[in-house]
Amino acid sequence: MPREYSLQNTRNIGIMAHIDAGKTTTTERILYYSGVNHKIGETHDGASTMDWMEQEQERGITITSAATTCHWKKLDGTGEECRINIIDTPGHVDFTVEVERSLRVLDGAVTVLDAKAGVEPQTETVWRQATTYGVPRIVFVNKMDATGADFIMSCNTIIDRLGAKSCPIQLPIGAESDFEAIIDIIERKTYHFSGDYGRNITTSEVPEDMVDQVEEYRTKLLEYLADYDEDFMMQVLEGEEPSIDEIKRVLRIAVCAGDFFPVLCGSAYKNKGVQLVLDAVVDYLPAPTDVPSIKGTTLDGEDAVRHSSDEEPFSALAFKIMTDPFVGKLSFFRVYSGTATAGSYVLNSSKGKKERFGRIVQMHANSRKEIDQVWAGDIAAAVGLKVTTTGDTLCDEKDPIILESMEFPEPVIELSLEPKTKADQDKMGLALAKLAEEDPTFKTYTNEETGQTIIAGVGELHLDIIVDRLRREFKVEANIGKPQVAYRETIRQAAECEGKYIRQSGGRGQYGHVWIKFEPNEEGKGFEFVDAIVGGTVPREYIKPTM
Ligand code: GDP
Repeated sequence: MPREYSLQNTRNIGIMAHIDAGKTTTTERILYYSGVNHKIGETHDGASTMDWMEQEQERGITITSAATTCHWKKLDGTGEECRINIIDTPGHVDFTVEVERSLRVLDGAVTVLDAKAGVEPQTETVWRQATTYGVPRIVFVNKMDATGADFIMSCNTIIDRLGAKSCPIQLPIGAESDFEAIIDIIERKTYHFSGDYGRNITTSEVPEDMVDQVEEYRTKLLEYLADYDEDFMMQVLEGEEPSIDEIKRVLRIAVCAGDFFPVLCGSAYKNKGVQLVLDAVVDYLPAPTDVPSIKGTTLDGEDAVRHSSDEEPFSALAFKIMTDPFVGKLSFFRVYSGTATAGSYVLNSSKGKKERFGRIVQMHANSRKEIDQVWAGDIAAAVGLKVTTTGDTLCDEKDPIILESMEFPEPVIELSLEPKTKADQDKMGLALAKLAEEDPTFKTYTNEETGQTIIAGVGELHLDIIVDRLRREFKVEANIGKPQVAYRETIRQAAECEGKYIRQSGGRGQYGHVWIKFEPNEEGKGFEFVDAIVGGTVPREYIKPTM
């Protein structure tokens, strides 16, 4: 069977943002415009597609990393249709480990900013993580319609707070309730959106009073781009006007190098601009063939590389295990090289066991499509893998490789669970095993002194969600103990570190550190855990533990 989409026409992207910036709304519009999703559900009425689980909708946060496939052909009809796989990256700080794991498998990302706030604390965290993993990005300044929206201020925060090389490639016409249209600086063209969900797009010239500003930013953009291509630099220096195609070509080089971050604007909610974000994903974000080849080791520990090609031996990384209400256990994986067919056997080289790809599915907005074969660069989910957990390599058994593994933080907080009845006890054992399989940062064990079941995670919200899922999905009723610090070592240090964040040495990994904070408890007899941060940022109130 031939490939449906070439590697060059594939994009594996994430959408990253501080919570509430509009990531979910933007993703929904993308699915809608790409023709997959036929009903737009607003996040506030709880009908969002990416927010799978009931509790997420109630909490209004996205915690899963579902991958969704859609297709896009550029608005001007040029180029071939692209397959875009969107890997959902959660925005809440407790789940930065989830962000890390999705960053591992994406080739590029759209960073969504709130036009009222520009760069926010969690933007900084995910930005830094994306930089660590070398993920090229474009920036979408959303909420241009909201009171207080300021595009240029938002663009400046990218330079000031993130220290990034960045320049707008669009300008808004109007802001707040007067936000009307979007100017494409490269094309010198204005885009208007009208009709149902802004599906009718018309263009016009740049308004007279905006011409100077457009030229100012266009010149700035060309100056930035001159650094990335010598011919282009000569053209700019000699005062020649590069063609639109030429500007786009060099901008693609700059973005794919992970060195330059163009900024777009719009309002997902008011249906302005998201289609242009999709065009930019196709134009500027890398295909799997544009990113460095994946590295790993052979079973003998020798260095090995796999190139993005169907001709190489099969290699893939499992990045997310989920339980789907209809098909059961779904293991999401990213194929780096080679192909595999449904029904075939692959080697889980991390566990040293063979696995059968019973069925392979690709998730679309509201449906799942069964596929016969996966190819290099694809993202899909396998149904019914037995031993595979997040971070495992799946590969050709004749040519085994272990891809660079993911690292996960140790739990920092734990609590006890006492099932209410014997039936609850039985259900709980199974449920916890299943949850631990899905989530490598979640641990469960029995306290030998008290016989209680203990669950441990990377933050209080993490455990809240686990307890919530136990009740809802698995119908387990249990008495819940108070959250406790998971490390004795930490408690020893707490006395010296009152009210400050300290570094949890057990939580070290390539994602950075886990920082935890204590306050004296109410009885004044000890300390209690108040907060944890996972990730590379050093909290402002950090003090070095004295060991
Ligand atoms: P997420 O947390 O980043 O996924 O953000 P959501 O997409 O859930 O959006 C958070 C809130 O902002 C919701 O109430 C949205 O309706 C609202 N919102 C999203 N995009 C826009 C926008 O473009 N303009 C305005 N005014 N509100 C928006």
